[in-house]
Amino acid sequence: MEFLAGNYDVIVIGAGHAGCEAALASARMGCKTLVVTISIENIALMPCNPAVGGPAKGHLVREIDALGGQMGINIDKTNIQVRMLNTGKGPAVHALRAQADKQWYQREMIQTLQSQDNLDVKQAMVEKIIVENNKIKGIITQTGAIYTAQAVILTTGTYLRGKIIIGDFNYIAGPNGQQASINLAENLKELGLEIMRFKTGTPARVDKRTIDFSKMIEQPGDNKKLFFSFMSEDPSPYNYSCWLTYTNEKTHKIIRDNLHRAPLYSGSIEGTGPRYCPSIEDKIVRFSDKSSHQIFIEPEGLNTYEMYVQGVSSSLPEDVQLEMYRTIPGLEKVEIMRPAYAIEYDCLNPTQLKLTLETKKISGLFTAGQINGTSGYEEAAAQGLIAGINAVLKIRNKEPFILKRSEAYIGVLIDDLVTKGTNEPYRMLTSRAEYRLLLRQDNADLRLTEKGWEIGLVKKDRYEKFIIKKENISREKCRLKELMLSPTDKNLINLLKNKQSSLLKQSISAADLLKRPEISYDDLINIGYGDKEINNDVKEQVEIQIKFEGYINKQLIQIERFEKIENRFLPLDLDYTKITGLRNEAKQKLNNIKPTSIGQASRISGVSPADISVLMVFLEQQRRKGAISGER
Ligand SMILES: Cc1cc2nc3c(=O)[nH]c(=O)nc-3n(C[C@H](O)[C@H](O)[C@H](O)COP(=O)(O)OP(=O)(O)OC[C@H]3O[C@@H](n4cnc5c(N)ncnc54)[C@H](O)[C@@H]3O)c2cc1C
Repeated sequence: MEFLAGNYDVIVIGAGHAGCEAALASARMGCKTLVVTISIENIALMPCNPAVGGPAKGHLVREIDALGGQMGINIDKTNIQVRMLNTGKGPAVHALRAQADKQWYQREMIQTLQSQDNLDVKQAMVEKIIVENNKIKGIITQTGAIYTAQAVILTTGTYLRGKIIIGDFNYIAGPNGQQASINLAENLKELGLEIMRFKTGTPARVDKRTIDFSKMIEQPGDNKKLFFSFMSEDPSPYNYSCWLTYTNEKTHKIIRDNLHRAPLYSGSIEGTGPRYCPSIEDKIVRFSDKSSHQIFIEPEGLNTYEMYVQGVSSSLPEDVQLEMYRTIPGLEKVEIMRPAYAIEYDCLNPTQLKLTLETKKISGLFTAGQINGTSGYEEAAAQGLIAGINAVLKIRNKEPFILKRSEAYIGVLIDDLVTKGTNEPYRMLTSRAEYRLLLRQDNADLRLTEKGWEIGLVKKDRYEKFIIKKENISREKCRLKELMLSPTDKNLINLLKNKQSSLLKQSISAADLLKRPEISYDDLINIGYGDKEINNDVKEQVEIQIKFEGYINKQLIQIERFEKIENRFLPLDLDYTKITGLRNEAKQKLNNIKPTSIGQASRISGVSPADISVLMVFLEQQRRKGAISGER
């Protein structure tokens, strides 16, 4: 029997990584918010690797934090190892990665959600979303509870028609033995949303006490204060190691001999899997020339013997899994605590979405996370944050919050999804960002915190800390540019000799000296020209901004060019079939995507540069006729 159980501004379905950010953003911006999830204990569950961050993913976490999101703060509190990756390369690809204690991560996030003002947390299976005249009205749960709202955010992850596959055994379920979400999946189809079928997989969890670590290479964390959040100050007291080992020919032979029993090759898996996170059987087939593959053994937490075997996700039968694991150095006597498995699930074609992550079909319905065809905690959290923000702004009839490709990896992520779509689980990579020298993880706050403050998500304490940092950076850069160093300075001469750096012929500024790759800010401190008290974050910014000034300015010019066509707006009600000179494929694609700008139109696959010129001419004609302004 259905009954009215409550009325909210915003309802979030699902409390995975997307749902948590969406719910917190909406509540923190002052909206009465409800988050409904299948199991409260499984809020912020990490069904796959016990880690947050890494290349491009670390950038997303910093951006989420800079905008006032939660993931960065949560992992800084609950990690058991942190490492800065790619330090041998340029700052654009430096990437922070942390090993999480999964259960601690969840407990901390549950605590944060439950203590958040304006937010109710409820356990229920949502069966249906209520839509009238293509406008969202609310939800109905399994027990008949009706909750009404002006906006609903769907973040159902890998649960929609979830199916677990291990060899020839499969069953309908979500990850970790949870219920799958069946009726809601049917409901979305009935509402005419375009559904895709994807799959992903995870490796086995093995018992730590059955591993011989002496046969592996230890990978300890960095003993440095490294944080994802610009607000964190207390480092985690833990520094657990990961362990490196390799597959070998014996491992590969067992897999090859059992490919006929592999669901991936026997046809019982219909979903499309992630190219950049392939299963081990996929690696053996696709990279048959390789004699070994890297494996990282990662701790799942402080109070568990479970170890995650990164690099060997699979859906092979369990007996094959055990046989293959026991060929790997250090795992000869290993015991599997949870077998590897693949999960198939329904997700939405993201070209049905606007850049705000609202569906084009149903006003007030937003979607975020794995349901949009992505893979990864960080990608999900980033989308959840944006969907939460835009749901609130929509309710308040305010300007939408859209990040450009030139402003954030989050902008690249969402633009790629809604403009190009994806035919496999989409994972963020640094190579996807055109302006990655500007989209570094170290300057996410300088790029985004002001925006977070303007929309009311960044609070006073973070904003004040940010302003002080910004002022300190520009003050120190000015000081170094005005500070002239004499070629006769003894300390300076010794430093240059030690660094085999050319001696000065005339006075130069300390900033110009710092431009030299072999000279660091710490060197300036050692010869008395640097500020000993300087904060590490400020020092890092001063060094990077001075050393890469030339490249950064070049990229700023490229962005100016990009912004020109990005700011040539297209009316959303334009009927492209009426524009003569456009090719049929372009007409069809443009009418389907309804790009907001010439820039976005130029990124739609199947729209050629010639089509864009036709469009530009058409726009100019319309503008001259006064039919359109070209403004948003
Ligand atoms: C087996 C497996 C392997 C994976 N492997 C990788 C990998 O290798 N690399 C990688 O980057 N990512 C991987 N992932 C993906 C990663 O877990 C997800 O990207 C991430 O968890 C997505 O977050 P999300 O918030 O979109 O969804 P989820 O974290 O899946 O959360 C969805 C939430 O929705 C709730 N929910 C669903 N349906 C309903 C309903 N009807 N009513 C109420 N609540 C509902 C659930 O309870 C859950 O809280 C894997 C996931 C799984 C399951």
